[in-house]
Amino acid sequence: MLDIRMIRERASEVQKAADRRGIPCDVAELLDIDERYRQQRVRVEAMRAERNARSARIAALIRDGRETEGATEKREAAELAASMAQAEAELKQLELELDRRLLAVPNWISPDTPDGGTDEDNVEIRRWGEPQETDFPLLSHVELGEKLGMFDLRRGVKVGGSRHYVLKGAGFMLHRAVQQLALDLLGDEGFTLLDVPVMAKEEAMTATGFFPAGRDQAFELEGGGRFLAGTAEVPLVAMHAGETIDLTEPLRLAAATPCFRSEVGKAGKDVHGLYRVHQFAKVEQVIICRADSALADQWLERILSHAEKLLRLLELPYRVVAVCTGDLSYKNYKQFDLETWMPSRHAYGETHSASNLLDFQARRAGIRYRDEGGQLRFAYTLNNTMAATPRILIPLMENHQEADGSIRVPEALRPYMRGMEEIRLP
Ligand code: AMP
Repeated sequence: MLDIRMIRERASEVQKAADRRGIPCDVAELLDIDERYRQQRVRVEAMRAERNARSARIAALIRDGRETEGATEKREAAELAASMAQAEAELKQLELELDRRLLAVPNWISPDTPDGGTDEDNVEIRRWGEPQETDFPLLSHVELGEKLGMFDLRRGVKVGGSRHYVLKGAGFMLHRAVQQLALDLLGDEGFTLLDVPVMAKEEAMTATGFFPAGRDQAFELEGGGRFLAGTAEVPLVAMHAGETIDLTEPLRLAAATPCFRSEVGKAGKDVHGLYRVHQFAKVEQVIICRADSALADQWLERILSHAEKLLRLLELPYRVVAVCTGDLSYKNYKQFDLETWMPSRHAYGETHSASNLLDFQARRAGIRYRDEGGQLRFAYTLNNTMAATPRILIPLMENHQEADGSIRVPEALRPYMRGMEEIRLP
């Protein structure tokens, strides 16, 4: 959420930022409601002052035994009370409308974010590794997984419906191994590892910017008011909602959670295999730091480098792209994606997403700290995927397949897979 004072002062810039993202947002209308809200508040405050003055006068008349003289005062006070109730109801309506619109205003956009409409306009920053040239035809992860008994898509669908899967044997081991390696790397980087709720209240979803826009992406639980989080970013940030925290050192938080997404609007897209599913597992990194742009920039690079380190250890060719305005989530100020080479797609596919949100999330969530001068300020938040499986299994299986149909296990994963060097049929 942006600061309303900032929206008043820089209305045309806020409008321009929303337009560049292609997000419908009418800043002039919002400011009109803000103006009406403020005028109504002045009216209600004046009425309250008048009511208090009348009450004092009536009390004084009663005290002096001149109750009969207070009859007119009392009638007028009753009339005032009725119009005040009406005015207060109007004020509440305006406040709700203002809040609704404020929550929908997208974040600022960093000056170095490239313009563009879709992910095809994202700009490559750097690459690491080369897709391997082979003299044998490469199989897709679906073909490999079925041949080597690593997963069972049919039975996953039988249980959970479309976009579900069952991982088994070496597939299960690979999935757990990547997550544990990811957690160990973050532990070495001083992250606090947490096990957090994946059911989140509506407030938590709103506080972290996943609601109201994006509400259709979440599965709501029967019984009302609780949702299955689509990422550990929700609990990791929302657990500090309403707190004033010590940010002498940034908070480095990580969790491994199941993530649930309805993927509404993605019908027919990426339906093959493990790319886009309703339930997946993700190790997530979250940083909460002081409101210092240079510091946040450094942390964005750092959380990106953690994920890059993992991809290098997994020996997977990848590229870093700067996400363009049209592909930037409405809550992000700046975003880099990591895309990993997926032979069956003949393309790099998104496996990680690193974002700097400035104080957009902390302002919604009420996460503050005291600066050197003792002033309360909203914190900055950042996040990045560390490992998301089963999507990362796609490049792992496809890039490391051998001519004999086996899959080579990268050295970094072997300690987590009982020393297994390759996955092959017994
Ligand atoms: P996001 O939190 O949307 O930035 O996504 C972070 C990462 O989670 C993506 O880069 C993917 O690796 C993974 N991911 C997101 N959505 C899905 C999905 N529906 N199925 C599988 N993996 C996903």
